[in-house]
This record gives sequence, structure tokens and C-alpha cells, in this order.
Amino acid sequence: MCLPTCPTYDATRRERNSPRGRISLMRSIADGELEMGEEFAAEMSYCLGCLACQSACPAGVDYARLFETARADIEQQGIRDTPSRIFWRTLVLRVLFMRPRLLRWMGRALHLYQKTGLDRLVRRLGLTRLLPADLRRLEPQTPRIESKFSSDLIAAAEEPATHARCRVALLTGCIQDLAFSSINRDTADVLLANGCSVHTQEWQPCCGSLHAHNGELGMAASLARRMIDLIPPGDYDAIITNAGGCGSHLRHYSTLLAGDHRYADRAKEWDRKVKDIHEWLVDIHPRIPTASPFETETSVTYHDSCHLAHGQKVVSQPRAILKLIPGLRYIELPEASWCCGSAGVYSITQPEQSARLQERKIGHIAGTGALIVATSNPGCHLHIVSGLRAAGINVAVEQPVTLLARAYRREKKPSGSIESTYPS
Ligand code: SF4
Ligand code: SF4
Repeated sequence: MCLPTCPTYDATRRERNSPRGRISLMRSIADGELEMGEEFAAEMSYCLGCLACQSACPAGVDYARLFETARADIEQQGIRDTPSRIFWRTLVLRVLFMRPRLLRWMGRALHLYQKTGLDRLVRRLGLTRLLPADLRRLEPQTPRIESKFSSDLIAAAEEPATHARCRVALLTGCIQDLAFSSINRDTADVLLANGCSVHTQEWQPCCGSLHAHNGELGMAASLARRMIDLIPPGDYDAIITNAGGCGSHLRHYSTLLAGDHRYADRAKEWDRKVKDIHEWLVDIHPRIPTASPFETETSVTYHDSCHLAHGQKVVSQPRAILKLIPGLRYIELPEASWCCGSAGVYSITQPEQSARLQERKIGHIAGTGALIVATSNPGCHLHIVSGLRAAGINVAVEQPVTLLARAYRREKKPSGSIESTYPS
């Protein structure tokens, strides 16, 4: 049943490129019939980790865990190591994404580089040729870094205009914080408009999703501990995330810390409290805005982030939020939960397959005729923006909560609503 849902099987029609094929390879290695080597590593690198097979599996096979463990074993054995790969992995996973201050400092430098037009000059002079091939390919897709980060936009504690009915912690993410801090502000505004007291820690470490998906389970566990220490789950009714990929990892801290007696119980409580923003809003019955986000009726479609739909099973709630907003005409996207090809570092490691999936997604989006495509994961957001730009298609990409926040802001007399600090 999983085969027709698997994008890599669909591309090649080869059993080994399917979930069944990969599980059978893993079993052969576990049984000692096959050696873990380059062939296995290549197969696991070809897998998107989109988890569509997991949603389809009637037996409830936990493909996500198998996949993470296989990638961790490959890394441990150093099968794919080359000096340049070790350098970039160390820089990204061990240095940048372990140190939030350093990551923001790098974000500020990148913002300056983009704002001054130095990036365009470097491209015009052909200096990008000096980059390693993988990074050269990725360079045009570098996200625009926002001028203000989440802590510049969101106070440590914000209270709703009316009596608070719950207390939540807001997770600001890494890429989300650098490239989409305005979405974090929108999320805070929507929570306030729905009577939540919002608490946002200034220096949040990476949630560890990047590490876990890339075979670094030790570092992922240490980041999970730091996160639990910083945001004790017992202090909140919910811990809110607005990035599909992060959320999918964040709600499995208990598996990561199962063997750690100091954290195991808190990790279980943490998992119970982590909620995707759309899921949480539907749980607490969101207030219907009295205004539309736009002057005229606007059509919107929705792309499911794999890790939100398959990893977290949050499918109906973002659609429900979109359908709640006055002035939006919702159009369902064909193959909405088919991976867009972003899949973490997939566009670097598997550029051809990534581009094929991107084109397929863009074709479907264009086919709906919608003026906006909504999605809820920074990876999908950036990948779809770059695909639309390359195809010359004028469709805006937005988070559902951004559209909801915009509708609340346009209300003439907000009732029980927000004093938005969103920059105009
Ligand atoms: S995670 Fe996605 S690409 Fe990998 S086996 Fe499952 S469906 Fe196929
Ligand atoms: S058990 Fe699940 S993953 Fe395995 S073949 Fe059946 S549907 Fe596919």
C-alpha cells in the first residue's frame, strides 16, 4: 500500500527505491546478510524522508525511526565521509546550529550582504564559481534574511486584551527565525487574538530536527535537553510550533530521551504539550475574523508539508483555518501532500529528483489558478517560492496563520483582540 505514495518509487518503479525495498535492505543489514556500505548509504540518501509511506502503512510501521536510525548508523561508520563533507557537516551541525547567538550573528551578516547588493555583485562577477559545486547550486536559493529576528518583534511575555484563557510557549525555530520572523510575529498575534498568554524565550536553541534527520542523534538529544530546561513543559498549557519539520521532531523528544532517567518523564510531558499552531487553534476553537485579509475576494490553495501531514497528522486543521477567513476562496490542490522536493538538504544531495518534484508541485499550483499558495514549513515555503520564480508564475506563498493575522488586523473594532506590534 505504501508503494503508490512513494515519490522515489514513482520516479523509477524500482522496488529498491521504495519503502518496502529500503526496509528489506535495513533488515538484511540487521540480520548480517548484507554489509552496510556505499550502496545502502546512497539508497538512504535517495529517500526523501517524506513519510508518505508511514501514513499509508496499515501495519503502522514506524518508518521515521527506521530511517533516522539507518542514517545515524551510516554517519557513525563514516561511509560517506570526505574532507569537504566533514567540514560542512561540522560547520553546520556542530557549530552553527548548536549556537543560537552565532547563528543569528551569521544571519545578520547575511542580511547585510543581501541588503547592500553585494550578493548580486558577487554573482555578476562570477565569484560564486569559487564555492564548492553543491553550494554553488544552492546559492540562488539562499533565503532573504529578515532585518529583525523574532526577539526584536516579540516580547518575552505578551498578554491578550481580554482575560487569558491559557498560557503557551512559542517556539521560534532557526530558519523560521532568520527568514520568516514575521510569521512568528503573526503566530503570536493570532494566539493573543484567541486569548492566549504568549511566552517566548529570547535565545532558543535549534530543536535538533536537522541533527536527527541527518544522523546525529547524540547532538539531537542534547538539544532536546536544552530545550526542555529552557521551556519546562509543566509551566504551559501548550508549546506552539509553526514549522512542520520542526514540529514533527519536537513531538518525539520522549523517544530520543527514553534512556535518560533525568529527562524521560519531562520529555513525555513535552511531547503531549507540543502542538502545531493550526492544531492548537482548532482545539481551542478560533475566533472567526470579521474582516478579510484583502480588499477583494482572493483564491487560495494549500500545500501540505510532509512532516506536518505525515509526521504530525495535521491535515484538516490548516484547511479549516483557511476556510474560516472571510474573503478567501479555497481551492484544493491536486497531490497536496506529495513532497515538493525540498526535504531538508535533499535539494543539495539529490538536485535532479528535487527539481523534478518541484516542477510537478509548481505545475499543480499553477493549474488551480489560485493567487496564493499557503503552506506551513520554511523548507517548503522557500522551495515553492524559488520554483514559482523560476517558472515566472506570480503566486504568493503564505502561512495560513499569516492570512488569519492579517484578517484580524483589518478588523475595524477588534473584540477581545490584539494590540499588534507587527511592523507596518
Ligand atoms: S519516506 Fe518518502 S521517499 Fe522515503 S520511502 Fe517513504 S514515501 Fe518513499
Ligand atoms: S508494512 Fe507498511 S511499509 Fe511495509 S510494505 Fe506494508 S505498507 Fe509498506
